[in-house]
Amino acid sequence: MAKYSMETRAVHSGESRGKIGGAVILPIFQTSTYLYNGESSYEDLRYIRLNNTPNHDAVCRKLASLEEAETALVTASGMAAISDALLSFLEKGDHLLAQNCIYGGTRDLIVRDLPRYGIEVDFLEDLSRESLEKGLRSNTKVLLAESITNPLMQVENLVEAAKFSREKGLVSMIDNTFASPCNFRPVSIGFDLVLHSCTKYINGHSDLVAGAVIGKDEHIRKINHRNIHYGATLDPHACFLLHRGMKTLPLRMGQHNGNAASLAEFLAEHPGVERVYYPGLPGSGGHEETKRLFSGFGGMLSIELKDAAEKTTQFLNRLELPVEAPSLGGVESLITRPSLTSHAGLTAAERKQAGIGDYLVRISTGIESAKDLVADFKQALD
Ligand code: PLP
Repeated sequence: MAKYSMETRAVHSGESRGKIGGAVILPIFQTSTYLYNGESSYEDLRYIRLNNTPNHDAVCRKLASLEEAETALVTASGMAAISDALLSFLEKGDHLLAQNCIYGGTRDLIVRDLPRYGIEVDFLEDLSRESLEKGLRSNTKVLLAESITNPLMQVENLVEAAKFSREKGLVSMIDNTFASPCNFRPVSIGFDLVLHSCTKYINGHSDLVAGAVIGKDEHIRKINHRNIHYGATLDPHACFLLHRGMKTLPLRMGQHNGNAASLAEFLAEHPGVERVYYPGLPGSGGHEETKRLFSGFGGMLSIELKDAAEKTTQFLNRLELPVEAPSLGGVESLITRPSLTSHAGLTAAERKQAGIGDYLVRISTGIESAKDLVADFKQALD
C-alpha cells in the first residue's frame, strides 16, 4: 500500500483481503471473547481488552499506514494514548521535558499526576537547541511536543527536537492531533511516537472519543502491555466508526485547511480583531517551519478581539454557524474560549505563563463553505 497516495490509503489500507461473508465493509465484531486456539501467551488470546479483535486490527493498520509508521495502537481516548505512552517510558526518578504551551489535559496530567509517581517534569521555553540543552538532565527520558500547539497554534523547531532526542537517547513523543497525518507525519523527521486524539480530525464527526499511539513495533508492544493492564481499550463499535471516519480524512482535511486559510486571511484584516494565531499567515510564529515540513496549515486558528473583555461574549452570541463547544476537528465548525474549556484545569497563573489569555477564542473550522463562514464571522464582528 505504501506506493499509493494518502487518499487511496485512507480508503484501502488496513482492510481485510478476504471479504468476510462477502461484506464490502468490515462488520462490527461485537463479541468480547474468542475461541481458545492453543495460544501460549496472554497477549495472544483474543479478547476486546487485549486490543486484538478484527476491528482493532483494521483500524490500527490504517492508522499506521496514514502516519507512515510500523504499527499503531488504538485506545479509549486521546488522554489514554498520552498517559499510556508516558507511563510506559517513565518511572520513579525519571524526568520528562515537555513543550510549554500544550493541551490543558496533557499539562494537567504531567503537572498534577506524574509527580505522584515520582516522575519529575520541566517545561521548555521553546524547542531551540539552547533551551533543549538547558532543560536536559541526567535522568531525562522522554521529550513531549505537539506538532501545532493547543491553543496558540505554534509550530516550533520540531526537527531540532527530534534530532536532540535521538542524540541524547530520549524517547520523543509528539501529539499530532491538530495537524493530522494528512498535513504532517512526524515519523518522517525522526519522532519515535506519534500520539493522537482520534476524537478530533481522524474520526472527524464529533461522535466518539478515541486515541492512538503510532510508531515502531517494539515501542507499541510495550505500550500495549500497559494499556492491557490499565484497561483503556476502545470498543469494537467505536473502532468501526473510527475506521469509517478515516476513509474521508484526506477529503475533509483539504476543506478544513482551505476554510481556516480563508477565515484567517479575513480576520487578519478586520479592524475588530487584535491578533490571529494561525501558522499559515506569513509573519506568524512557525510559518516558515510549517511551510517546510507540512503539506497544509490545518483547520485550527485562535483570535483575540480588540476590547476583548467587553466584546467577546457578544461576538460569540452573534455567530450563527459555529457551535460554541469544546473539542475540534469535526465537520461542523466549533468555537470555544480555552480559558473556560480545554485549559480550564490550569490555574490562572499557569495559563498566563503559557500565554493563554482569558478572552482568547479558538476556532475549529468545519467543512462548511468558506464563503458562508467568512460572511458569518463578518456579520458577527461588524
Ligand atoms: N491532545 C490534544 C491536542 C487535544 O486537543 C485533546 C483534547 O482536546 C487531547 C489530546 C485529548 O483527547 P481526548 O479528549 O480524546 O482524550
